[in-house]
Amino acid sequence: MDDFNYHEPRTLAEAAVVLHAARNGVYIAGGMSLIPALKHRRVRPSDLIDLRLIDGLAGIRREADTLVIGAMTKHADVAGLDIVRNSIPDLARLVGEMADPSVRNRATLGGSIAHADPASDYPPALLALEAIIVTDTRRIAAAEFFTGPFTTGLRKGEIITAVNFPIPDNAAYVKFANVASRYAIVGVFVARRAGKVCVAVTGAKPCVFRFGEMERALENSFTPDAIKAIVMSAQGLTADIHGTPEYRAHLIGVMAQRAVASAAAKPRPA
Ligand SMILES: Cc1cc2nc3c(=O)[nH]c(=O)nc-3n(C[C@H](O)[C@H](O)[C@H](O)COP(=O)(O)OP(=O)(O)OC[C@H]3O[C@@H](n4cnc5c(N)ncnc54)[C@H](O)[C@@H]3O)c2cc1C
Repeated sequence: MDDFNYHEPRTLAEAAVVLHAARNGVYIAGGMSLIPALKHRRVRPSDLIDLRLIDGLAGIRREADTLVIGAMTKHADVAGLDIVRNSIPDLARLVGEMADPSVRNRATLGGSIAHADPASDYPPALLALEAIIVTDTRRIAAAEFFTGPFTTGLRKGEIITAVNFPIPDNAAYVKFANVASRYAIVGVFVARRAGKVCVAVTGAKPCVFRFGEMERALENSFTPDAIKAIVMSAQGLTADIHGTPEYRAHLIGVMAQRAVASAAAKPRPA
């Protein structure tokens, strides 16, 4: 690991000033992805700006039909708190199945989505639930946020402060996980709200994506049978040590049908 300056700003404004003044500044949240990257010198910042002490970035609240989760909220809290379990149960379950307890007690929502790993679990939830990412300067629709592998629509120095999740009528996430890391080889999040259905897929392409053909079929009939005959083309899907494009295409169909069956059986809690 190279030497760097370390900062602990107390406000968003202070953090942004330090970032812009630095030659090559980087924010750090839970450090679960950033610290390994520093150790391997894949990232070589001049300044590390820790967001931990900034007030108001962690916490979860419900505002009418929206669940607002602060960017510095740890995975363990999203997985364990009743406010999430009672509003969007599969969001709590999705986060509870990420990684392991030591990671879940440090890693954060903001770090997870800013990192934008193409196999990570939060992005399909944000995309399918049509979440809004709130930063220190603006609001970004999830559909505009994830732009490529490890790439987002964030501007230089922009800080994610929270994510607003509209509460769906039905939702479920099913993933076929890598047994070692628990990252998704393929994961499918299905959400239905006011008759509109969103199906978002992670792990299968360089960036999370929506599967429009399935969405249209499910808006006619919200049943696994409605999408049984829909086959994802293997073209453009990821090939790696975990699976071929054809294998992933097959998994998308299977995971999506399971997610629909699970979502249909779990209407929105009263
Ligand atoms: C062993 C292991 C297993 C894992 N398994 C899974 C899994 O199964 N599923 C899964 O989805 N994830 C998994 N993860 C990833 C983990 O859940 C975290 O999402 C990830 O490590 C980043 O979160 P963090 O808070 O530690 O961010 P950091 O590592 O601190 O930061 C990551 C990036 O985000 C930027 N950043 C952080 N916060 C903000 C902010 N508020 N605004 C703007 N930029 C910001 C940082 O500058 C950095 O570029 C795993 C990680 C590990 C180490």
